[in-house]
Amino acid sequence: MHEIGREEVLRVLRDLGATKVLIQTPEGLKREAQGLADFLEENKIEAIISGDINYGACDPADGEAKRLGCDALIHLGHSYMTLHLEVPTIFVPAFAKVDVIPALEKNLDEIRKLGKRIALVTTAQHIHRLELARKFLEENGFEVLIGRGDSRVSWPGQVLGCNFSAAKVDADGILFIGAGYFHPIGVAMAVKKPTLAVNPYSGDAIWLDKEAERLVRKRWAQIAKAMDAQRFGVVTSTKKGQLRLAEARRIVRLLRGHGKYARLITMNHINYPALEGFDFDAYVVVACPRVPIDDYENWRKPVLTPREVEILLGLREDYEFDEILG
Ligand code: SF4
Repeated sequence: MHEIGREEVLRVLRDLGATKVLIQTPEGLKREAQGLADFLEENKIEAIISGDINYGACDPADGEAKRLGCDALIHLGHSYMTLHLEVPTIFVPAFAKVDVIPALEKNLDEIRKLGKRIALVTTAQHIHRLELARKFLEENGFEVLIGRGDSRVSWPGQVLGCNFSAAKVDADGILFIGAGYFHPIGVAMAVKKPTLAVNPYSGDAIWLDKEAERLVRKRWAQIAKAMDAQRFGVVTSTKKGQLRLAEARRIVRLLRGHGKYARLITMNHINYPALEGFDFDAYVVVACPRVPIDDYENWRKPVLTPREVEILLGLREDYEFDEILG
C-alpha cells in the first residue's frame, strides 16, 4: 500500500556518515520497518527497530536513539514537524498509492453542495495527490483554496488530528480527502463550515456536520459530568510535540483561581488505568486532543480539554475544538 524510498533513506544516511540507526514505526508499517532494517544492514548500517507503537510526528524517539548510541533516527509514516531533535532525524512519510480522482469524480454532485469556493485538505498520506485533485476540481468549475497552515504542518493543505490551520481559509465549505473520521470531524468542529469527506479507497462521501454535532453534544455531557468536581488532575505528555507545559500550568492556575484543587501530572502515554490510584474527581488532558475526545469512554472519571475547562468555569460559551497550533 505504501512506498518507502529505501535508496533515498540510504543516501541520506550515507551523507550523514551514519553507521547505526533507530527505526520508529506506526502500527501499520511494521513490516516495512523490518524490510528497511534488513535493507540497511545489507548495506552495512546497523538498524534497531523501536517496538513502541508511534502515533505521530509529535512523538519522535530521538532521545531513545541517542541513548542507544545511534547516529540518526528514521521516523516512518509521518511528515516533518518543527521540534528540537537530539539526533538527525529522517521523516519518511507513507504516501498511499490510491488514486483520488475516481472518488472525486463519483461524488461531484455531492461536492457541488459545498458551494463554488472550496477549501481542499487531506492528511500526509494523500498530500502528493492534492495538486491533481485541485486541477480536477478546477476543471469542473470550482474555485479551490489550499491553505498554507501553520508551522506544525509540513505541506499546504495538510491537516493533523490536532491542527486544522490549513482548513481556515475564506471558503464556502471544506472538502477533505482521506479515510477515517477523526480528521474530518475535527475539521468540521474547528472550522464550523459544511465539511464533506471523500474516501479514495471506498469511493464513499460523508457529510461531517451531523457527526460533529453529535460529538459536540457528547463533549457537553462530559463538561456537565465534571460540574461538581472539586479535585482536578491536569495531565500533559512528555512526548516532545505534545508537551504543552505552559498551557497546562495556565489551566492549573485557572482551576485554582476558581477555588478548585488542581495538580499537574506528566506522563508519556496518557491512559486512564495508569491514573486510577490518584484522588481526583476529573481530569484535563493538555496534550494530544485525541486522548480526551477519542478515548473518553475508557475513563471512569470525566476527562476534558483545556477549552472545555474554560466552559466549565464560565469563561467561554461556544464550544471550540482543542488544537495545538504552531
Ligand atoms: Fe497526531 Fe495527536 Fe500527535 Fe497531533 S498530537 S500529531 S493528533 S498524535
